[in-house]
Amino acid sequence: MPNRPTDSELGLNAGVKDSRTLLPNRDSFYYDVKPLLEKADAGELSLVLLVIDIEGVDFILRTFGPVERDMAIREVGRRIQDAAEEETTPYHINQGRFAVLLQNGSFMHATHQAEALADILREPFNVAGISYHLDAFVGISHYPNHADSLAELVRTGVFACHQATTLESRYATYDRAIDEEERYRFRLMLDLEQALEDESGIRLAYQPQVSLQTGACVGVEALCRWEHPSKGAIPPGQFLPFVEQSPLMMPLTEDILGIGLRDLNRWQKQGFEGSMAINLSSALFRRSDMLERLLDQFRYANMPMEQIHFEVTETGIMDQPKRAVNTLSEIRERGSQIAVDDFGTGHSSLAYLADLPIDIIKIDMYFVQNLEKPWGRAIVSAAATLADQLGLVSVAEGIEDEYQLNQCRELGVTIGQGFYIGRPMFREAFEGWLGI
Ligand code: C2E
Ligand code: CA
Ligand code: CA
Repeated sequence: MPNRPTDSELGLNAGVKDSRTLLPNRDSFYYDVKPLLEKADAGELSLVLLVIDIEGVDFILRTFGPVERDMAIREVGRRIQDAAEEETTPYHINQGRFAVLLQNGSFMHATHQAEALADILREPFNVAGISYHLDAFVGISHYPNHADSLAELVRTGVFACHQATTLESRYATYDRAIDEEERYRFRLMLDLEQALEDESGIRLAYQPQVSLQTGACVGVEALCRWEHPSKGAIPPGQFLPFVEQSPLMMPLTEDILGIGLRDLNRWQKQGFEGSMAINLSSALFRRSDMLERLLDQFRYANMPMEQIHFEVTETGIMDQPKRAVNTLSEIRERGSQIAVDDFGTGHSSLAYLADLPIDIIKIDMYFVQNLEKPWGRAIVSAAATLADQLGLVSVAEGIEDEYQLNQCRELGVTIGQGFYIGRPMFREAFEGWLGI
């Protein structure tokens, strides 16, 4: 983390008021609170900061105009002043954000105040003769329990307020565990960005896919691994969900595809004729440049698309079927095959399945691993038959023993993948396994 600013770097100015609400503004807030913190440090009092965010102000600006917006803001300020107890001063920190400082209040007292403020601000407003609602969220932070400086008190208060907004709750108290988790993710994403820049740390493990009829290896699935410089190996389940919510998913996928194509090229030169499956996060469907960037990787590697299969989860497709269908169709038209991953765990209707631009269904390992149960067997059997009838290839994932392997073969599944056949292996080990 970069060096944190000291409290003296905050603008501290006495008596400055916001021109609209006529409440003291942010500078006044810092100026007034600083000496209170010193008192709190001396054990003379305890402080609770309430940060109040108002949502919907911009809507008024858009719909009515700046005059009406200012009227609404003024009314918000008035209500906060009325609802706040005597001797507490509300501050207008910036557009749509207010702060109230409570002295010597208990935790219970703070939540009651927060509730009262949120309730009064959610009462209908009247602007230009029209009645409408604003949303109000209150964050609660205690000094010194949640912060050791003025800047930190503000940060934790704003954090709590954001938490209330996310939870759609009227108020939330600062939660250190959630804060630390968020910071951990943030640092992890910075580290990943670095790893992508340095082209270090991201590796692929390859898991064989074999024909259940002949036993021959007909393909591999590329599974990404991250060797973190200080945390060691981080499994995909522990970082991909965060990456998917960040802009890094595209560069990571480019990296993975690039490595995969390079290795596949190498194996092809040694006689390997199988395919390589690359997992495609459905988060990428939101990007308009996704297809072009994938195509670029094929161009750089000077490789055709035919041997690459792209796997997308059933839920990923069903979350945004239109975009998924468009993108997948374009990929497919250019030569790659599309597999529906984790088939059976989503809620796609069977009728819809027939219309999807897909070639392969990968039966989720949950069913494969419950093959000894009548329902598990029924589902694997139905999926294999369905794939067959629709002209698709079926793959059983997560085969862990001989019984599951034999059952899948008997039920007509085309391809098998799982620890019993081969674990995901780094390139050298996989080449050894293949015997090339
Ligand atoms: P997935 O695509 O369903 O991949 C199969 C997962 O099951 C892999 O976990 C694999 O190691 C594991 N597996 C394979 N055979 C067996 C078995 O017999 N038993 C058991 N218990 N597990 C088995 P992994 O590598 O931890 O990956 C987890 C998930 O992370 C993947 O699930 C996929 O959704 C995602 N993922 C992995 N690599 C990538 C990637 O490069 N890009 C994207 N977008 N997602 C990836
Ligand atoms: Ca997969
Ligand atoms: Ca899967």
